[in-house]
Amino acid sequence: MITPADEALLRRAIAVAAHAVALGDAPYGSLLAGPDGTVLAEAHNTVRRDDDITAHPELKLARWAARELDPETAARTTLYTSCQPCGMCDGGIARSGLGRVVYALSTEQLVALNPASGAWPTVPHDGPALHDEARAPVAAYYRPTR
Ligand SMILES: [Zn+2]
Repeated sequence: MITPADEALLRRAIAVAAHAVALGDAPYGSLLAGPDGTVLAEAHNTVRRDDDITAHPELKLARWAARELDPETAARTTLYTSCQPCGMCDGGIARSGLGRVVYALSTEQLVALNPASGAWPTVPHDGPALHDEARAPVAAYYRPTR
């Protein structure tokens, strides 16, 4: 459920997205709000500026949260973002320990505005293979020590 306080923070994320456009970057903005609603960090999309396909604001903030927040604080921190996170960012958000995501435009609504946003190809995966060789370093790393 999205509250009026959530909407205020979403509006700020949308303002970050609008500012990104003013800077010549893609129109995506996000922020992290701590347990009391204080804004902890903001980011916008810098994919073109940085020539970095991972420079989505949601992933930048997930990395920041994993690095800067203790797990308890991260779990009570919310990511507000102008558009629904993509699959790449969702993976980082899940690993970051963040507790909640609130977004404005859904992926479907974004694709209606920019069809290229939904045109990511599915890359074929082949595997598993070479089980015994591949498991050796993993098993050695995770082998319990006494
Ligand atoms: Zn993303």
